[in-house]
Amino acid sequence: MIQQLKRDSFNSLLENCKLCPRECNVNRLAGELGFCKSGAKIKVASSAIHRGEEPPISGTHGSGTIFFSNCNSQCVYCQNYPISQLGYGTEYSIEEFIKILFSLQNKGAHNINLVTPVPYTPMIKEAVYIAKKNGLKLPIIMNILGWESLYFADLVLDFTDVFLVDVRYADDQLAEKYSNIKDYVSINKKFLNKIIAEIPQQKCDKDGIIQAGIIIRHLVLPNNLNNSIQALRNLKEWFGTEIYISLMNQYFPAYKASDYPELNRRLTIEEWTEILTEFKNLGFKNGWIQEFETD
Ligand code: SF4
Repeated sequence: MIQQLKRDSFNSLLENCKLCPRECNVNRLAGELGFCKSGAKIKVASSAIHRGEEPPISGTHGSGTIFFSNCNSQCVYCQNYPISQLGYGTEYSIEEFIKILFSLQNKGAHNINLVTPVPYTPMIKEAVYIAKKNGLKLPIIMNILGWESLYFADLVLDFTDVFLVDVRYADDQLAEKYSNIKDYVSINKKFLNKIIAEIPQQKCDKDGIIQAGIIIRHLVLPNNLNNSIQALRNLKEWFGTEIYISLMNQYFPAYKASDYPELNRRLTIEEWTEILTEFKNLGFKNGWIQEFETD
């Protein structure tokens, strides 16, 4: 059951921000900004029904997806960079954010899908606590990069039903080069260990819509097949073959990708086939594979 944050705890989370592994320790309530430039209010770029997620998330009515502004990483190929890096969006009070949650429920969404919500965790937790008491019924999805701390996990586990979490890198140097984050592999592994211990089973309703569970996403990057192969091997070694994996080929060069020649194109069918072969050879039993679309 979700615990309401006491006022002191709520304030201290923002007065000394260490909501993500950067641990900037800035006082956001006093107007200081950390690496992600998030302030003391929730900032949202868009909220809408989204049908492009995995089948148990999008279902037939779509996922109630909220894209938060700002991000604590800096992926050079970010497809949402106007939101994540340039900070486009509108600030909302907790009361206004609760109205967004209910408007998605009223539109028939299967769930509330929080995309890169980490800097706003205390406000979101408060909003979900109040909304659930007042009739919000939808499962809450944390849609995150996988570079999250155990501190964050402890804050969100009591109100998160589904984690949609990336395993993007199997190589710390690549994570630093492409996303400006350190120690990705060990932080990612610790975070996954924690949530898998807490949410061991996937649960869907009679229509196949996910109500609880963990889906691990891997986005294949061009010219980086060793990274993808090692990421899949790590997953098998750490968690076995029963986990739910979503293998994605939707990469296209965006933002600063043209500064990195190896990233400045889409995936080829040959690269995708090689990753699929590895995926099958490793024996993963559950998950989804994106269709390969040719131009
Ligand atoms: S959420 Fe933002 S301000 Fe807080 S520690 Fe992370 S990057 Fe720094």
